[in-house]
Amino acid sequence: MAKLIDGKVISAAVKERVKQGVAKLNEQGISVGLAVIIVGEDPASKVYVANKKKACEALGIVSEEYALPENTTEDELLSLIKELNAKKSINGILCQLPLPRHLDEKLIINSILPEKDVDAFHPSNVGRIMIGDYDFVPCTPAGIMEMLAYENIEVEGKTCVVIGRSNIVGKPMGMLLLHKNGTVTICHSKTRNLKDICLGADILVAAVGRPKFVTEDMVKEGAVVIDVGIHRTENGLCGDVDFENVSKKASAITPVPGGVGPMTIAMLMQNTLTAAKRQNKIG
Ligand code: NAD
Repeated sequence: MAKLIDGKVISAAVKERVKQGVAKLNEQGISVGLAVIIVGEDPASKVYVANKKKACEALGIVSEEYALPENTTEDELLSLIKELNAKKSINGILCQLPLPRHLDEKLIINSILPEKDVDAFHPSNVGRIMIGDYDFVPCTPAGIMEMLAYENIEVEGKTCVVIGRSNIVGKPMGMLLLHKNGTVTICHSKTRNLKDICLGADILVAAVGRPKFVTEDMVKEGAVVIDVGIHRTENGLCGDVDFENVSKKASAITPVPGGVGPMTIAMLMQNTLTAAKRQNKIG
């Protein structure tokens, strides 16, 4: 049976570190602030935003929530972001995605100052991840790297396979593993021989968005398996990995829930602290 990589324990450790970092800044008279913008009524987005606010409060980060109506125009949203870009007490700005269809996501993301872009979606931050010179990393892949480090799972020299090539998970995940000297393959919906490629993986990251997609016959004995997926089913939450059977073969595995999920918010908090430090020329 695989060792469980416990996202609740590891995210608590990250949050404690951030809390101490925020307190240290507060002692120097510096506050840490995060602005969260949400447009429209998407219920899942509302839950995410509420959770982010709660996490901020617990760590001493001042959170400002901007809940805008569904019919907000691009100009209105851009002018709010402009205001927050200039606001000294705000160190991080996050615009909850997805945005309503009439708003150009790319334009909105590009309007956030890169030094306040705590989601690391701005092209300038994406480029910095490519060259390995970055302050912010998208929260989910950053959380996974944190989990591997916490569990002393060495990446160097390992064969790493990432299933999924999204801009927020798959691609940055591949880059981070590469920066740690893993040998990385990124698979996607057009990949041939997916099973064979996965069978070669020492570290397998599933970010496919399909319930129980990774089955035991795709996993090498003793592999480390990281499950990014979250799916609501009749029987509760499940991930992209068939946990029950894969966990019999893997050496370590993240559960769903309680795996990668809790790490994402913790890393957002860490990025916000980093933003505050950089903006105040500390560390
Ligand atoms: P996405 O839909 O943007 O990307 C899915 C990727 O999977 C695509 O690149 C696609 O090419 C690939 N894919 C689809 N079908 C495939 C197939 N048959 N074979 C190989 N590859 C295939 O999804 P995403 O935003 O990267 O998210 C992936 C999953 O992770 C989702 O379940 C999402 O809910 C979850 N997620 C969780 C967190 C968290 O905090 N735990 C954060 C972000 C996303």
